[in-house]
This record gives sequence, C-alpha cells and structure tokens, in this order.
Amino acid sequence: MTTPANDHFETIAVHAGVQPDPATGAIMTPIYQTSTFVQTDINEHKGYDYSRAGNPTRSALEEALAALEGGRFGLSFSSGMAAIDTLLRLVKPGERVICGNDLYGGTFRLFDKVLSDYGIVFDYVDTADTNAVRAALAAGPARLVWLETPTNPTLRLTDIAAISETARAAGVWVAVDNTFASPALQRPLALGADFVVHSTTKYLGGHSDVVGGAIMMNDEDTYERLKFLQKSVGAVSGPMDCFLTLRGIKTLGIRMRAHCDNGLAVARFLEDHPAVERVIYPGLESHPQHELARRQMAGPGGMVSFQLRGGEAAARTVALRTRLFTLAESLGGVESLIELPAAMTHASVAGPEAAAAGFAVDPGLVRLSVGIEHPDDLVADLRQALAGV
Ligand SMILES: *Cc1c(COP(=O)(O)O)cnc(C)c1O
Repeated sequence: MTTPANDHFETIAVHAGVQPDPATGAIMTPIYQTSTFVQTDINEHKGYDYSRAGNPTRSALEEALAALEGGRFGLSFSSGMAAIDTLLRLVKPGERVICGNDLYGGTFRLFDKVLSDYGIVFDYVDTADTNAVRAALAAGPARLVWLETPTNPTLRLTDIAAISETARAAGVWVAVDNTFASPALQRPLALGADFVVHSTTKYLGGHSDVVGGAIMMNDEDTYERLKFLQKSVGAVSGPMDCFLTLRGIKTLGIRMRAHCDNGLAVARFLEDHPAVERVIYPGLESHPQHELARRQMAGPGGMVSFQLRGGEAAARTVALRTRLFTLAESLGGVESLIELPAAMTHASVAGPEAAAAGFAVDPGLVRLSVGIEHPDDLVADLRQALAGV
C-alpha cells in the first residue's frame, strides 16, 4: 500500500508495506515459508525465484522499513550485525571510516577484530563533538562516517544534521545506527544522512522474540549495490522473522510514547534518589545535550543509564534485586530489562584496544531498558531494589 507523504507515523506503521494477499484476500501478509518459486517457463515467474534473492514476506517488511524512515528503499537482514557488515562492504581495503568511540560493543568488535583485518581503517573520534568529526574529515580522504546516536550505553548524542552537511561537502557518506531512537523518534535521512541502520531486534520488533537488522536509504545506485550484496553475502532474514518484525512495527508509534513516558518517570525518580550519583537520560535537563535531544528527537526514548554512589558493588546488588526489571542483555522490548554494560553487552570494549580508541564504560554503570509496564510499578521496583545500597 502506498502511504501518502502526509500520513502520520502511527498510520504509516500500521499500513506501510501491507497489501491484502492477492490469492486469498488475507489482510495480513502471509509467512511465505518457501525457499523457491515455480517457474512457468525458463525464467518466467511472478518476480520471485529464490528466497535468498527475494521473498514476499521480506518485501513487505522492506517496504515498511523504508516508509518508517521516510526513505525510498529498505533491506532486511538476519541481524543488526549482518546489516552493519553488509553496509561496510561498500568500503574497500585502504579506505577510511570515521566512527564514534562510544559504540555498541558488537559494532566495535566487528570493526576492530574483523573488518580491520581486511584493510579498512577505522578512525575513532568523539562524535558528540562536531568539531572533532570535522577535523577528522579535514585530515584526509574517507569513505564513511559511522554514527550511533544516542550511543549505547552512555546515551551521548551526535548532531546528525551538522555532521551530514560537512560530510556531504567532502563527498563522504554518513550512516546512522538509529537503533536506540527508532524511526518514531528520529529520522536521520531527513537530517541529511545517507544510510540508516537498525538492529530490528530492539524497538522495531519490540517484543524480544526475533533477531533482525535493516538498512534504509534514498540513493538508488547504492541501494542496487547493497541489494546485490544482500543476495551475494546471504545474511537475509527468514519469512517468519520478517512476519514477526512486521507485526511488531504496527505498534511502534504507541509503544515509543509509553517508553518515553516511562523512561522520564524512571529517570526523574533516580535523579532524586540519595543512593544515585548520576543519571544519564536525554530527557533530563541535566543531560549535557538536552537541547540537541529536543531539536533532533521527537522524544527522549526508553533507555536510562545511571551510576550509584556505592559503585560497582552497589550496581551488582541492584541488578540482582529488581523484580520487574529482568537481568538480561538486549533492549527495546515491551518488558523492562536491567544490565551492567561493562560486564555484559559491552565486555568487548573492556580491553586495551578499546581504551586506546577512547572507549570508556564505567564498571558501575547500570543500563535500563524501560518497558511499557505501568510507571508506578517500575518506580516501586527500583525503590525497593535501591533501599539501603
Ligand atoms: C543490538 C545492537 C546492534 C546489533 O544488533 P543485533 O540484532 O544484535 O545483531 C547494533 N547496534 C546497536 C545500537 C544495538 O543495540
């Protein structure tokens, strides 16, 4: 279904990519659980010949993903890392990538431990500092600027519009990992970025029941190249995973409103609690980039990080005491999660290579993925977990 450009986000989320099944009229896109498609003559078929190259359930999801980011094209992958890896295949040996020094641990691991072996040069800078990125762009040729905003787990923001403008003038692509904000809160393509990447495992899927990734873009030539890479490398999402992600997307708009409301309630509670040393949340006036968050994002999101006066020992105690916040990696689902990034999701940025690149995740940092439960229950859970630490 083509969604008119003036439809609101919630409407696009429900309708984009979904057409009644031509065979039966089924209102929901079927799970086309098939590897191949019958041909009526040599190379005569209905647009699909093999499910690695294309599958109707995946096509519906890819159309929806593009529409959510206000882009022309979308591609769906078997995981967020598969999407990032495929996008990085646009960069050739010897070429330089300017990237943040506060990234998802798995992204740093892919860059530092896998792709640098193929001769890609990664230049780590603090992308929250626009001038630092400008200086890196001025220092020599580059192919790509890789941004994550807000960052995982320290929730630092990058000014996408300012950096995209400088990069574009230098002929350098900008890719934004938009996993933390989701397209409900932030649309990097409209701010001048060339590519948006998602771990759809998180807010887009939204129910902690599927692993997936996506790339969205406007330029047709790079889309064709990436579609070729998707088929050639083969890290595609299966029909069932595409169905689950499509189903999750329908409620993205209303889920993100609840995540933002609950995130703010939790962040304000923590900020006032005597055991808490520091709360990091873009929706708090105390966040150093609160103004940028207001300008660049439609809401501060559901991720809250904090440190306790009692340091790492207190953090470990709290993480084991919560009842509703479940101790687990990942984020973006309807249920609330708690974790210690330094020991869990970001263990791969604990080593000396990461420290040399400027990564620093405090061992006492606690990260919350605030779900859509009632905010009073979430606050009560944290209150009992923090008692006496
Ligand atoms: C989880 C995550 C990824 C990796 O996605 P997977 O689906 O786990 O492969 C990439 N970037 C960010 C910001 C993430 O949170």
